[in-house]
Formats: sequence, structure tokens, C-alpha cells
Amino acid sequence: TEELLRKSEMLSAVGELAAGIAHEIRNPLTALKGFVQLMKAQGGNEKYISIMLSEFTRIEHIINELLLLSKPKIINFQPQNLLLILNDVLLLIDTQAIMNQVHILTELEETLPLVNCVENQLKQVFINLLKNAIESMPDGGSICVTMKRLGDQSINIQIRDEGCGIPTDKLQRLGEPFFTTKEKGTGLGMMVSFNIIEGHKGKMLITSQENKGTTISIILPSI
Ligand code: ADP
Ligand code: MG
Repeated sequence: TEELLRKSEMLSAVGELAAGIAHEIRNPLTALKGFVQLMKAQGGNEKYISIMLSEFTRIEHIINELLLLSKPKIINFQPQNLLLILNDVLLLIDTQAIMNQVHILTELEETLPLVNCVENQLKQVFINLLKNAIESMPDGGSICVTMKRLGDQSINIQIRDEGCGIPTDKLQRLGEPFFTTKEKGTGLGMMVSFNIIEGHKGKMLITSQENKGTTISIILPSI
């Protein structure tokens, strides 16, 4: 527990710093990208420009994830229906799932208490986790998303895939900034997700079996 506490305090300090830097970098980055787009419009070297634009997109992606690490202000927390949030996300991710021959099954309880949350942050968590689940099944497969009441005061959301799984020695490293096993990964999705769930006074638990699949379980306090 002490180790966990130390890790979480460190994560939140590092997160604030990272979000602060990301914020500072965003404006000059936007300016640079604008000039490269201008060069493209004026008929500059197509090959170099397209590499620059795709690298800009990659930096933007990283910046956007880091920006999520800044602590939400109390004022942004609103009572929300998780069913609506989850359905929005499922709609958003559907195309990507279909393109990867992934089928998403859902088992969502209809009448659940509301959760005090920052909607966009929770959406980001669900998107990160669903993306990882899709990416864990390069040859397609199924993802099962369930949501149900857990006791009187919490809601349990589970995302289960039948993908490559995570070996035990790597499991502990999940949530470490920049830990990735993917060629084009950022290694930020899990860290940001842990951070957001913690900011919502929730818990995120992971169980995984190599070549069998992974289950991520999120427990959030309800109102
Ligand atoms: P990224 O997806 O950019 O690699 P993440 O922080 O989202 O970064 O995930 C970190 C690592 O955790 C991944 O590279 C992968 O090795 C592992 N991982 C996360 N979710 C899953 C999953 N559902 N199945 C298998 N491995 C996973
Ligand atoms: Mg990811």
C-alpha cells in the first residue's frame, strides 16, 4: 500500500508537470504546423512535407494525452449517466472496431445511479481501453463491455478482450509513462487512464493471461 501511495503521489506531481509543459508546447506547435501546411499549399517538396505533417500529428497526439493529466477543477465534475457516456464512446469506436474485424458485445445495466464525473475524461479512459483491446487482437475477435451495479455505492465497468494478453512481468509496468510494446505506441494511454480514474476516486484493476486475453475492471463511486 505504501508503495502504491508513493507511486500515485509521484504520478500526480509528474502529471501536473507534464500537462503544464504540454500546454506550453501546444501553441508554438500549432504555428509550426500551420506554416508547413502553407508550404504544402505553395507546392513545396511533397515527400518532406508529408513526413513533417504526420510527425506533427504524432506530437499533437502525445500533447493531447498529456494535457489530460492536469487535475480537473471541482467545478467540472457533474452528475452523469454512464450509460450515455459509454454509448457515445461505443459509437465513436465502432468504425475502428469494424475495420479490425473486432466485434463489440455489450451488457449494460439500464437503470444505474449517476456518477459525479468529468464526462470528457471518462470518455477518454474508455476510448484508451477500447483501443488497446482492439489493438490486442490484430486478427480480430470480440470485446465484451459490461456495466453493472456493485453494492450500493459503486458501478463496475468491465472491458474484456480475447487478445494477446500481458505477460506477468509487464503487467506491473502498465501505467508507467511511455511504457509501450507497440512500434507506434505512446505508452501514455494507461497512465492517463489510471490518473483519471484516481481523480474520480475510483479504481482500475487489470487481470490478464498471455494469449487468452485481458480484462480491465473500473470501479467508480456512484451518487
Ligand atoms: P500504447 O497503447 O500506446 O502502447 P498504453 O499505455 O495504452 O500505450 O498501453 C501500454 C501497454 O500495455 C501496451 O503497449 C500493451 O503492451 C499493454 N496493454 C494495454 N492494454 C492491453 C490489452 N488490452 N491487451 C494487451 N496488452 C495491453
Ligand atoms: Mg493505448
